[in-house]
Amino acid sequence: MSDRILIIEDEEKIARFIELELVHEGYEVVKCTDGRTGLEQAEGGNFSLVLLDIMLPGLNGMEVLRRLRKSSDIPVIMLTARDAVMDKVAGLDQGADDYITKPFAIEELLARIRLALRRSSHRGQDEPADGADDLLRCGELTLSESRHEVKYAGSEIELTGREFDLLNTLLINKNIVLSREQLLGKVWGYDYMGETNVVDVYVRYLRSKIDEVYGISLIQTVRGVGYVIRDEHEQ
Ligand code: CA
Repeated sequence: MSDRILIIEDEEKIARFIELELVHEGYEVVKCTDGRTGLEQAEGGNFSLVLLDIMLPGLNGMEVLRRLRKSSDIPVIMLTARDAVMDKVAGLDQGADDYITKPFAIEELLARIRLALRRSSHRGQDEPADGADDLLRCGELTLSESRHEVKYAGSEIELTGREFDLLNTLLINKNIVLSREQLLGKVWGYDYMGETNVVDVYVRYLRSKIDEVYGISLIQTVRGVGYVIRDEHEQ
C-alpha cells in the first residue's frame, strides 16, 4: 500500500508541483490550502506524513503543528521561507521532524520524505526476539535501537526521531569526538547547506531532556571540534 502524504500549503503552484512529483513517485496525495482544514485532515486522514507550510491562512503552520502534536506523532516536514531561522528552530521545538527551505530541489524534498518515513516505520516496530537486542550503554544510560528506546537508570526518556538518531550516533561513536559536519552527515544524511547550528540545537534538546533532568553531563562539547560522549562522564 502506498504512503499517503498530506500537503498543507496555500501557494497553489507550489502545492500542485509537489503533488505531481509525489504522485509520480507513487505516493497518494491530498492537498489543503488553509491551516484549519489541514489540521482536521492531519488528525483524521490516516496519513503517513505531512508537509506543512508555515505562512498559512486560518491557522499558521506552527499552530497547526502544536495542536497536531497533542494527539499524533505523524512525521511532519515544515516548508519554511528562506533564512527564517527562527521558524526552523521553533518548528523543531514544536516537534517537527525536519524542515526544508523554499525554494528547494524536488530531489531533496523526496530524500527527506523517504528518511522521515523510514524513521517513523522503525518507531512502530515490534520488540525483537530474545537475544536480538542491541543495547548501547553509557553509565546508567541505555539505548536500544531496535526498540527505539532510551532509558536512564531504568526510567524511559521520550525523544523525537531526530534526537534519538543523534544520541544513537554519539553512543555508537563513544569516546570519539565528532565534528558538527560529521554529525550532520551521519544523522541528517545529506548536506544541510552549511547550517551546522542545527546540530547545536539538537544537542541542546538532548541536554535538556537528559543532562538537566538527571544532573549529569553526558554530551561533552569539545571546543573548536565538536561533541563526544565519554565513558567516564559520571564518576
Ligand atoms: Ca504560504
